[in-house]
Amino acid sequence: MKKVLRIILWSLFGILAAGYIFLFVAYNGYKPDKIDIEVSSEATAYFNETYEDCRSDFLSEAEKIKQEYSFVEVSNILVPNKSGQELYIDLIYIPAQDTAINLMVLTSGIHGVEGFAGSAVQLMTIKEIISQDLLSSTGLFLIHGLNPFGFKNIRKVTENNVDLNRNCAINQSLYDVVNEGYRDLVEMLGPTKKADHANSKNRNFHIIAVQKIITESMAALRQAALQGQYEYPEGIYYGGQKFEPQISALAPILKGIMVDYSEILTIDLHTGYGANGVLHLFPNPIEDPIVKSGLENIFSGYQIDWGDSDDFYTILGSYVDWIGSLAPGKLNLPMVIEFGTLDSQKTLGSIRSIQNMILENQGQHHGFKNERTEAKIKSRFREMYYPSSEEWRTKVILDSKEILEKVFQRL
Ligand SMILES: [Zn+2]
Repeated sequence: MKKVLRIILWSLFGILAAGYIFLFVAYNGYKPDKIDIEVSSEATAYFNETYEDCRSDFLSEAEKIKQEYSFVEVSNILVPNKSGQELYIDLIYIPAQDTAINLMVLTSGIHGVEGFAGSAVQLMTIKEIISQDLLSSTGLFLIHGLNPFGFKNIRKVTENNVDLNRNCAINQSLYDVVNEGYRDLVEMLGPTKKADHANSKNRNFHIIAVQKIITESMAALRQAALQGQYEYPEGIYYGGQKFEPQISALAPILKGIMVDYSEILTIDLHTGYGANGVLHLFPNPIEDPIVKSGLENIFSGYQIDWGDSDDFYTILGSYVDWIGSLAPGKLNLPMVIEFGTLDSQKTLGSIRSIQNMILENQGQHHGFKNERTEAKIKSRFREMYYPSSEEWRTKVILDSKEILEKVFQRL
């Protein structure tokens, strides 16, 4: 009897050990699915490797636009910063050329590091999509690099560690919101030692996460971690305690432009969340049936993942919703376009994404174990928001061209 028991116990131990090793290898060697597409060198040519190069390409297109269209305004917002870097948000406004009816506001780089792809999409839009005909009754306002600090320094957040897309308060009570779910996870989300991706805790991060998923559910954890929090200034997805300077500076400019139009479509370009290489339409849930059906018409033929659907999440302090609040009484259509990178709709991809965020943020506030660790953590972070894959970059351009062409025609 004892012998049988011993065999059972050893077998169980063997199964558990095999499971542990399998998961360990799967997690630590995690890669998203490959993208099956032929690389286009014309598409990849829109991408640059530095903030300065993105900016310079955008500004040289601005000069050409001035020649081609009437009443074009090119301007910038200087974003103050402690390190004295030259950080600008660049703006091109092409008014509707005949009658002002619709306005499209197309923004890149609200999450600094995501600006590389956003900038490429804006360049493509200028070069391949717009025309006198399309801009006859539609104005286009391009906002390039809304968070230039993060863009230049490969961070998502501003110099004040603020996530701009959690910062845009329509009502000041936003900054008093308590995110209880984040509080419960704060030890996991905001470790205070030096960042080291290779220590045993981080190599087994998936196990800690899976334990939480079993007790809380994936959707609840995702919502708690990502919706935004206003209590931990050194934490992730921190929304700040007041407007960041660029949001304050942008408000009167936006109001001045929006006043001339009756319908405003705001598209905010992001990367990082969702299936690798897939263009997701990912707005916050919308209650107003007119706004909702307006978006469904403009984006018909495409799946819209309203933030409250299974694999997504809702956010507080959303930029596109805030823009709508600046022009009450008009039809405001807010949309977020997100190009997925790490297959974060899958459990391991989701865990890896959040771990990349935690480690990068931890390193910024508490230092890195050594230079090698720092380089590894930062390169993983950059790769998550700006993949070097030429297939990914090709897909971003081809898919955004297809959708934006349709959107312009339907406006
Ligand atoms: Zn983003």
